[in-house]
Amino acid sequence: MDRIPFAGSFPSPCDVLIIGGGILGSAVAYFLAALDTGSLRVGEGGALLSGGDGEARVPGGLRVVVVERDPTYAQASTTLSVGGIRQQFSTPENILLSAFSARFLRRAPELLTVEGEAPDLGFTEAGYLFLATAKGLSVLERNHALQKALGAEVVLLTPAQLKDRFPWLETQDLAAGSLGLRGEGWLDPYSLLQALKRKARALGVVYLTDEVVAVHTAEGRVLGVTLARQGRMATGTVVNAAGPRAALVAAMAGIGDLPVRPRKRMVYRIRCRDPLPGCPLVVDPSGVYFRPEGDGFLCGVSPPPHRDPDTFDLGVDESLFYEKVWPSLARRVPAFQAVKLMSSWAGLYEFNTLDQNGILGPCPQLPNFFLAAGFSGHGLQQAPAVGLAVAEGILFGEYRTLKVERLGFGRIALGEPLKEENVV
Ligand SMILES: Cc1cc2nc3c(=O)[nH]c(=O)nc-3n(C[C@H](O)[C@H](O)[C@H](O)COP(=O)(O)OP(=O)(O)OC[C@H]3O[C@@H](n4cnc5c(N)ncnc54)[C@H](O)[C@@H]3O)c2cc1C
Repeated sequence: MDRIPFAGSFPSPCDVLIIGGGILGSAVAYFLAALDTGSLRVGEGGALLSGGDGEARVPGGLRVVVVERDPTYAQASTTLSVGGIRQQFSTPENILLSAFSARFLRRAPELLTVEGEAPDLGFTEAGYLFLATAKGLSVLERNHALQKALGAEVVLLTPAQLKDRFPWLETQDLAAGSLGLRGEGWLDPYSLLQALKRKARALGVVYLTDEVVAVHTAEGRVLGVTLARQGRMATGTVVNAAGPRAALVAAMAGIGDLPVRPRKRMVYRIRCRDPLPGCPLVVDPSGVYFRPEGDGFLCGVSPPPHRDPDTFDLGVDESLFYEKVWPSLARRVPAFQAVKLMSSWAGLYEFNTLDQNGILGPCPQLPNFFLAAGFSGHGLQQAPAVGLAVAEGILFGEYRTLKVERLGFGRIALGEPLKEENVV
């Protein structure tokens, strides 16, 4: 990897500068520092081996800086996320990334311990349940076969088996359901973010509150950035983990065609009188999803394309709940006919308009400018895997644990989508 190519007029140099301290930027920072200090080793088949707490900084180790414009994360995708994790995707890379992340999350309380304090991530392996009518059955079966072949613990259930397991579910119009038995469910996004950040800091990563306003390049390489308050900073490598703002940051580096756009997604919190025992995260054939949260449920749906503009506005549209979400909920779960809408919020998907999949790794035209962006609604769960992959790419110049080459910028440059069918 590159270490400080150019100090010149750029003070305070660092080896890796990460733009954006959300879940993806913080995961990259953690894995860089953990691998560099030996706090973590990754063995055969992606086995995670703790190398002790590794909190003592290795002299001469990697200097990693994360620049975050808003450390309250009030508008970050991460903190506004629903926190779901699943292996039920149609793209092999997505299945493998989420499987690695699930393994990491199980070990996270130990791996992310700082000063004897283990984080509680609220990781609840209650599963995802994808439901299909006759129309969607062949897609469900095809995806299921791929997921099984890649080691996911998923089971196909008939309508009778669904009714038996979830008596509160309306199954008459269904042909089947696919249920994740392990490695699927949800976690608390804020806790995971803070745990990664705290551990990264303990391993020597520096977080700066500032905004990157320019990226300086020469002869096909990044030299440094300008920060709004602290001025210029030289760096050997830049990681663009700016979430819904990733295209703006890419444009600063002269990459004008990153197809990542801010798209608003609403989340509604409802309360229902009746409990739904054993409720997983359910994805209805209509696209509406719901899952338990505290004494209620979270639910939502992606808006139709004609109501889905690029926007940084976070105002909530409750009409989507009354027109689309509630009718589907009430059809699927009779108990939901009497729900109360308690609160709602909106966050931004970093939506990849080409294929709704993440874009990670170096840009061919700027090899020391890495991307970790465009995850379109599955970036929270994939952050640990993406963090490891990008860290390996920077440190070793290759992906050693996860085969993610197809998620690189190459497909974007060629306009060849790697389409994900299961976008929730
Ligand atoms: C409503 C909703 C529900 C979701 N549900 C799920 C789910 O169930 N499961 C799942 O896996 N994913 C889900 N997601 C997606 C997930 O939240 C995102 O993929 C993920 O959080 C993206 O992380 P990030 O770090 O790239 O972005 P962010 O969290 O937005 O972090 C990017 C950071 O970069 C900073 N930044 C931007 N530009 C600059 C700059 N120039 N200088 C300095 N800092 C900058 C921003 O301030 C921000 O904090 C959901 C998203 C939403 C909105």
